[in-house]
Amino acid sequence: MPIYEYFCQSCENKFEIKISISEKEKGLKVKCPGCSSNKTVQILGNFFTFSKGGGSDISNGCGPNPTPGCCG
Ligand SMILES: [Zn+2]
Repeated sequence: MPIYEYFCQSCENKFEIKISISEKEKGLKVKCPGCSSNKTVQILGNFFTFSKGGGSDISNGCGPNPTPGCCG
């Protein structure tokens, strides 16, 4: 089962979670283990450059739905 890295926007916690691919394809909402918030975003590779206050520098195709090959 693959491990995914997630970031919680609520408590700014970074965590890893195991999800089966079928669960992920169903659009599973990942809950933060720290605060149980579901305001979580997946961290793709080394893409961890959230800029506070900006949030709009996701302009290189690595948005919520990256195209294949985009993020390695
Ligand atoms: Zn949290």
